[in-house]
Amino acid sequence: MTVQSVLIVGGGIGGLTLAAALGQRGIRSDVAELKAAESVYGVGIIQPGNALRALKSIGLMEPCLRAGFQVDEYRYYDADENLLASLWPLRVAGPDAPAMNMLPRPALHEILRSAAEKAGAKVRLGITIDELSQHENRVDVTFSNGEKSSYDIVVGADGIRSKVRQLTFGQEFAPRFTGHGVWRYTTRRPPELDFQGMYLGVGVKAGLVPLTMDTMYLLLVSNEPGNPRFEADQLGPLLAERMKPFKGVLAWLRQEVATARDIIYVPIEEVILPLPWHRGRVVLIGDAAHASSPHIAQGAAMAIEDAVVLAELLSQGTEIEEALSAFERRRFSRCKFVQDLSRKTGEDGNIDDPDLCSTRNDNIRRTFATPQPRPHELTLAEPI
Ligand SMILES: Cc1cc2nc3c(=O)[nH]c(=O)nc-3n(C[C@H](O)[C@H](O)[C@H](O)COP(=O)(O)OP(=O)(O)OC[C@H]3O[C@@H](n4cnc5c(N)ncnc54)[C@H](O)[C@@H]3O)c2cc1C
Repeated sequence: MTVQSVLIVGGGIGGLTLAAALGQRGIRSDVAELKAAESVYGVGIIQPGNALRALKSIGLMEPCLRAGFQVDEYRYYDADENLLASLWPLRVAGPDAPAMNMLPRPALHEILRSAAEKAGAKVRLGITIDELSQHENRVDVTFSNGEKSSYDIVVGADGIRSKVRQLTFGQEFAPRFTGHGVWRYTTRRPPELDFQGMYLGVGVKAGLVPLTMDTMYLLLVSNEPGNPRFEADQLGPLLAERMKPFKGVLAWLRQEVATARDIIYVPIEEVILPLPWHRGRVVLIGDAAHASSPHIAQGAAMAIEDAVVLAELLSQGTEIEEALSAFERRRFSRCKFVQDLSRKTGEDGNIDDPDLCSTRNDNIRRTFATPQPRPHELTLAEPI
């Protein structure tokens, strides 16, 4: 059966990529985005080589590269800013593409939204769905404004707190707090910061990520037992407190952070949903299906890959059940690999026993004594 109409719930990274990829294959989609105005966090996003490769396949790598900052080197430091290792991630998107591209999230959003609209998708803001009812040949949808419509298929691309997941699979698969929180702050980029740097302390890790010629962002991952909530005006002093163990560039930045506004703190959560990710004609992609912790910067990459693969399968004219089952076969183990490795990387990065931290740092020094990619990049370089 040829799919002709798709409702994508959620106009984020996965949803807009899917709308663009489907439109390019001649499939019409409506995107229903809950937020009334585009208000993506002004922080950055890292696009590893496999994300660039997927974007390249739908003609969107170049605009991302133009909007971002390209990086080929990844460095580990200890908290005193001693270099532990320099790594050279794989150029998965081809010899002419960088290993990684970093760009501001609003810039990525704008690229994806305009690609979706150019490909014929109708992106509606300030709207969601209230009800879904499945029939043999269609899904009937009631929107939050009372409108009703029918589609061949509904895709839940509505992120970690997915309403489509709740409506289709129930409350059981709510996000799980991992014990860590992440702090982010965008500031001026010193010219020498042309690599991604990770700084490993005891019970805390930080990172510096170039974003544009002028800007970079600071990230810090802290252990936050009990999953506390913080007032916005406390974020500067609290982040500065957590930066105390670091010397060098982070100690210098700490002074600025103490009085800074625009610091974003989020608890790190993940969603573990076993297969199937679809019921009938409703399927989940991206964070709605498999939100991962951000420690290996692969969550958005997986959402983009999901979108490219799903668009390919839906355009092949096979039965919907067959296409959605094939989607899960192509995506589940890869997304699980990312989730598991990211969780482990988060645990290793925030060990709070000083002896174990020394052992971890020695291992990094030894393993990467000769410049090389990280082992997981070989897995993620495999075709999707
Ligand atoms: C701190 C942090 C840093 C990260 N850094 C990186 C990184 O560097 N690289 C990387 O690859 N990944 C990163 N990630 C992961 C990445 O942000 C997510 O995996 C990615 O955004 C998932 O895309 P998505 O489209 O599934 O969800 P989202 O991008 O969250 O989009 C979901 C959309 O659905 C909308 N929505 C929500 N509910 C509804 C509803 N009921 N109806 C309609 N619309 C709705 C939302 O408003 C949103 O626009 C990071 C995550 C975190 C938390």
